[in-house]
Amino acid sequence: MPLINTESMLKRAREGGWAVGAFNAENMEMIQAVIEAAEELKAPVIIQTTPGTLKYGSLDLYFAIALTRAKKSPVEVSIHLDHGDTFSLAAQALRTGYTSIMIDGSKLPLGENIALTEPVVKICEPNGVSVEGELGKVGGKEDDQEGGAGYTDTEEAAEFVQKTGVNSLAVGVGTAHGVYKETPVLKAELISVLRETVTVPMVLHGASGLADEVVMDCISRGIAKVNFATELRIAYTGAVQKYLSGDPGVPDPKKYGAAGRDAVRAKVIEKMRICGCAGKSILTPECAGGYPA
Ligand SMILES: [Zn+2]
Repeated sequence: MPLINTESMLKRAREGGWAVGAFNAENMEMIQAVIEAAEELKAPVIIQTTPGTLKYGSLDLYFAIALTRAKKSPVEVSIHLDHGDTFSLAAQALRTGYTSIMIDGSKLPLGENIALTEPVVKICEPNGVSVEGELGKVGGKEDDQEGGAGYTDTEEAAEFVQKTGVNSLAVGVGTAHGVYKETPVLKAELISVLRETVTVPMVLHGASGLADEVVMDCISRGIAKVNFATELRIAYTGAVQKYLSGDPGVPDPKKYGAAGRDAVRAKVIEKMRICGCAGKSILTPECAGGYPA
């Protein structure tokens, strides 16, 4: 089916107590792996790219690969700009055809974050494109930027959602991007509190390296989208290294690319099972046979 926005899938996830997995892709093989995993599990899925990835490739290149592959797929696929940092990049993503856009003003004071986010919602909404905002910092290194951990304030979150009109909100509950060097001080109970005042689906960043039960607990408390990036990179690169160490003279990139793709697919399936999104995609009618009621 064509690429779709994230509104319906995230609303269903929030109401149903499960989460949509959002997976960062760096190349064609990773996009293929993510959609193949979604098809195997009949799960809705979000493919996302950061500004750093888009500098390596380009918006239209990643979009074209995702669109071409998604059109052949019976499951719901959305392509999302992860950690968009400027209005200009958000507008470019919208023009290119991205169906979901994050504008991340979480390093700014509340008023400036609202002032950055609200205009993005204004241009996206009439085009049916979803917008994710962020309030409360996620720690660690995301893309090229270092951040410090910070917790989302309940009242500010309600005000932010109301004033900006975002469709989903990334919250700071103590997670950090990248691989954890020490155990994070996760305030999972904050998610339950935020769930009462934040009217839109909430997003968890920095889940790589958290124990499965911790991620599942966050989902049961109200997280409707979970981002996975670092673990997919590790899976891809590890599989390529392993392939090349066994056959160092191989000239064909397809050989080790396929090994990387298989490893990412397996990792995505593992993460989707943690999210509880298997069997939750609405399928195109001709493919709906066998879809669990
Ligand atoms: Zn993030």
